[in-house]
Amino acid sequence: VLQLGIVGLPNVGKSTLFNALTSAKAEAANYPFCTVDPNVGMVEVPDARLAKLAEIVQPKRTLPAAVQFVDIAGLVKGASQGEGLGNKFLQNIRETDAIVHVIRCFADDDVTHVMGSPDPARDKETIELELALADLAVVEKRLDKVKRAAKANDKDALAELPALEAAFATLSEGMPLLRGGLSSEHMLSLAGLQLITAKPVLYAANVTDAELAGDEGPYLKALRAAVAATGEHAEIVAFSAKIEAELSELPVEERSEFLASLGIETAGLDRLIQGGYHLLGLQTYFTAGEQEVRAWTIHRGDTAPKAAAVIHTDFEKGFIRAETVSYQDFITHGGWKTSREKGAVRSEGKEYVVHDGDVLLFRFNV
Ligand code: GDP
Repeated sequence: VLQLGIVGLPNVGKSTLFNALTSAKAEAANYPFCTVDPNVGMVEVPDARLAKLAEIVQPKRTLPAAVQFVDIAGLVKGASQGEGLGNKFLQNIRETDAIVHVIRCFADDDVTHVMGSPDPARDKETIELELALADLAVVEKRLDKVKRAAKANDKDALAELPALEAAFATLSEGMPLLRGGLSSEHMLSLAGLQLITAKPVLYAANVTDAELAGDEGPYLKALRAAVAATGEHAEIVAFSAKIEAELSELPVEERSEFLASLGIETAGLDRLIQGGYHLLGLQTYFTAGEQEVRAWTIHRGDTAPKAAAVIHTDFEKGFIRAETVSYQDFITHGGWKTSREKGAVRSEGKEYVVHDGDVLLFRFNV
């Protein structure tokens, strides 16, 4: 399951967002092998196509894909030195796939800003520096060990050393690893360290509701400028923690009306998840049987056996072929049977690259 770690300065809206997200929480029992922890919230990935598929197939249950949000509440200035709650939270975040960096883009005299007033560029840098220092501590420790082994002519150590030295140089300047210009070989060699600043970043701009419905305000513009200035590969998603909180208290069927009354098209959660999928190059395929209609998350470019592996590793090992029909054809023809009769179901082999929305039925040896 995709894991997104939420970071940001205090009082920017992280907990408000996290609580809103997880109040609509997915049933953890449906998703085995997922972390269960008060700081980890499981959220269903909204996808209107699932309901359409279920209407046709009438399965016993329908299961959306899920995303986990990890709340890193304790990250404050000095966290990398192990002050306060820092270290434990930093360990949680190391295990995530991407970082959601919440940036305060609203002014509110009733809500203290830890650094006086919002300044998206400065706030972004403050957190980046903390995360870079946290990574630096990890790299330094590893570098010590590897240097000693390299002196003894250990082959693995000699191979790892240049990547660690490059990382050390970048992080020493307070620069996130992702922007350090390291080669992909070096990045790969560092992957085992789970460095935070090597992860892709999604900036979640906590803006006012007026801004969501209308023109972008100065803070959001400043954030866009700051991200553009670094040339980083990132997504920026504007949302309102306050609206998400209000939304989460409404019954599901009243939510779109509430949003519409504010002139907002999609809920922040939907856009955050879409942003995460886009950032990480993810897509969805479906299985549609009488037992279960279900959405699965894979990478764009994954082949059919890789897609099968998401369900079970045995499916990948014993993969023979995948009966494949596009979502649109499945809906148009009204299910497997007619899709087959109309010739819309293809039998795809090991090389097949799965498309977003494909409905798949795996044939495999056990
Ligand atoms: P955290 O420290 O980043 O987890 O921030 P919280 O979620 O605890 O929010 C800090 C304070 O800011 C709380 O009093 C929230 O009610 C308030 N707050 C959060 N989001 C918004 C927002 O979008 N607009 C306004 N005006 N206040 C907000």
